[in-house]
Amino acid sequence: MRPAWLQGLLSASTDPRAGGFWCWLPSRCAICQSWPQSPLCEACISHFAQPQHRCPSCALPLPHPERRCGTCLKSPPPLDLCLTATTYTWPWVDLIARYKFQQQPGWAMSLATLMLSTPLAEDLLDAADWVLPIPLSAQRLAERGYNQSWLLARQLSPHKADARLLLRTRDTPSQRTLPRAERLANLVGAFAVEPLRAAQLRGKMVVLIDDVMTSGASLHTAARVLRAAGAAKVSALVLARTEAGSDA
Ligand SMILES: [Zn+2]
Ligand SMILES: [Zn+2]
Repeated sequence: MRPAWLQGLLSASTDPRAGGFWCWLPSRCAICQSWPQSPLCEACISHFAQPQHRCPSCALPLPHPERRCGTCLKSPPPLDLCLTATTYTWPWVDLIARYKFQQQPGWAMSLATLMLSTPLAEDLLDAADWVLPIPLSAQRLAERGYNQSWLLARQLSPHKADARLLLRTRDTPSQRTLPRAERLANLVGAFAVEPLRAAQLRGKMVVLIDDVMTSGASLHTAARVLRAAGAAKVSALVLARTEAGSDA
């Protein structure tokens, strides 16, 4: 017979992917396979998630700090600040696929910790009034069973995260193979603010959370909807950003 305290811990979660007690047991690093390590070891994080100078408006890498890229200078995006933890290349592509498509939501804690270590991320979240995930359509949510961006937002800022303020009003065809102009056209009318709560956005600072940023079409469309509802500032924090010209 197990003591009650141990029984409680074990029954809290018997699935390592769900986080909880089992997360505290030593494990193998998912990238370098070293043992015993946290699911993402320090050496891999410092090697594969090295901070680099990025455009503060679109998070694309830049040779110099604090300067916007040419595209953002010519046409400023609707985000006050855009931060990414990593570039969407190996090993993050594989890890995000496990998290998002292979029913492994337990990765949210480690991946959110990685996002928190992004320069300026903690300050941005501290200053925010709302931390809002990019919502999934009801159809996509039913297929996957969870919104990967909501799990990240909840880990990043448990008291400011809200999944019911920014809504997805309809499903959109897969964006993956479409050029940016078509992605934007696809998304017209796809987001809305919960009408009963619009006043809660007026004059507020919002941080949008997403797992992968490709063209920025979803983040930009959502940011415009939030600004139209009265949000004073809208920024974004994402887990991974594709490189210029590449697609997720
Ligand atoms: Zn490692
Ligand atoms: Zn830029």
